[in-house]
Amino acid sequence: MDDLPFQIEALSGLTAGSPSLSMPVMATSSTIDVLILGGGAAGLWLLDDLHRRGYSVALAEASSLGSGQTIWSQGIIHGGLKYALHGRAGGAAKAIRGMPLRWRRSLAGEHKPNLSRTRLRAEYCCIWAHTGIRSRLGLLGASLSLSVKPRKLQEEERPAPLKNWNGPVFRLGEQVIEPGSFLQDLADQHVPRILSVDGPQGIEITSASQLGRGDAPVEVQEVHLRCPGGKSLTIRPNCLVLAAGDGNSRIRNRLGLPVNHIQQRPLQMVMVRGKLPLINGHCIRHAHPWLTVTSTFDHADRTIWQVGGQVAEETANAPAIQAINRGREDLAIALPDVDFSEAEFATYRAIRAEGTASGKRPDRPTVFFDGNVVTAWPTKLALVPMLSDTIVEHLDPPAGHPEFEAPDQWPSATVAIPPWELESSWISGH
Ligand SMILES: Cc1cc2nc3c(=O)[nH]c(=O)nc-3n(C[C@H](O)[C@H](O)[C@H](O)COP(=O)(O)OP(=O)(O)OC[C@H]3O[C@@H](n4cnc5c(N)ncnc54)[C@H](O)[C@@H]3O)c2cc1C
Repeated sequence: MDDLPFQIEALSGLTAGSPSLSMPVMATSSTIDVLILGGGAAGLWLLDDLHRRGYSVALAEASSLGSGQTIWSQGIIHGGLKYALHGRAGGAAKAIRGMPLRWRRSLAGEHKPNLSRTRLRAEYCCIWAHTGIRSRLGLLGASLSLSVKPRKLQEEERPAPLKNWNGPVFRLGEQVIEPGSFLQDLADQHVPRILSVDGPQGIEITSASQLGRGDAPVEVQEVHLRCPGGKSLTIRPNCLVLAAGDGNSRIRNRLGLPVNHIQQRPLQMVMVRGKLPLINGHCIRHAHPWLTVTSTFDHADRTIWQVGGQVAEETANAPAIQAINRGREDLAIALPDVDFSEAEFATYRAIRAEGTASGKRPDRPTVFFDGNVVTAWPTKLALVPMLSDTIVEHLDPPAGHPEFEAPDQWPSATVAIPPWELESSWISGH
């Protein structure tokens, strides 16, 4: 963004982009380097990164932190296996394979951001192949091309549900984090910089450019924030970062920026609840990732499985019962020794929001730069550090504004509630 003038103060009073008439009189104002909209994994990681680098930075969250994707995610810090099942480490595998080590250092508190308070669901993922020569070859190929190499588990090392699996089971150095505790960990370190706002309508953006015209770069001038209690604040950011996941397209629309290179992939994840053994890993079929299971606990200490993979994609728009039935069929094949008769089943729907220049499914973070607006999608939780690096590379150095602090009694945002705590209609496994 070196070519941007960033003369925000000088532009005040020019054309207001989106209507701000409904906003109350502004009580406070502040000029800062970067304002981030959206406090999921991407926004919070970037907030931490920029603050450490001396930027005056704030984050505004319209709902609860991580609602949308991060709190729904399975928390696997992927290392590229998915992209290397055919035995070659292509561009995508190369891009992601450094991530597990980077996260591991942060999770151990050895590297910034310090994530030593983030709970781990598992130190590693298992990977096993559904019978069939091709899928076993896929595993072999993966072991040749990954930097996080699968290691074959001895029978006594295997997790209980795979003890008698009729084939090799590998251990993969992909840690699994508890997304809620990750969000809380970062949020706790940045309380003065996180602002809860009154829904998307609590944010009004005014711009100095002619909105809706592709030939004029957008120059965001002011962002007016209103908190649930009615207080208001005007921020003049040198740069506005949109890290609002699925919300990015609505904000871009309001700014008159194109939304054609954005895609939404709906998913319907299956949840299983009960006295279940713990397992975290991927079952492979025909050299493709087929079923992914992660385990956690709910407030009553019941085991919760999140089940994703092909079932989540192929039943995305189907009734819940259809997704549950398909999930049960797949689980019976992938984990035949597990007894589900006492378990309960439910589903949740989520949308994966992604930027894509090609129309294909992206395999790395996507960042669009439009005037002084940056729009960011990490594509995967695991890729959030890479997203942050890309944005930092393009930013001007800090301008020397004083460190941002939320006005007194401005509410900070809370972390979103995981889906199994919100679901009330569970279906018995009988
Ligand atoms: C079911 C599922 C499972 C997944 N599993 C994995 C996995 O195991 N490993 C992995 O690497 N990736 C996984 N992913 C992908 C990963 O979760 C996402 O890539 C990542 O969490 C996206 O983070 P984000 O911060 O961009 O978006 P989000 O987490 O969606 O956060 C966006 C934030 O912006 C806020 N917001 C929205 N609109 C506005 C607005 N107008 N103003 C201000 N704030 C706003 C939202 O409330 C939210 O807090 C999974 C995704 C899904 C859906």
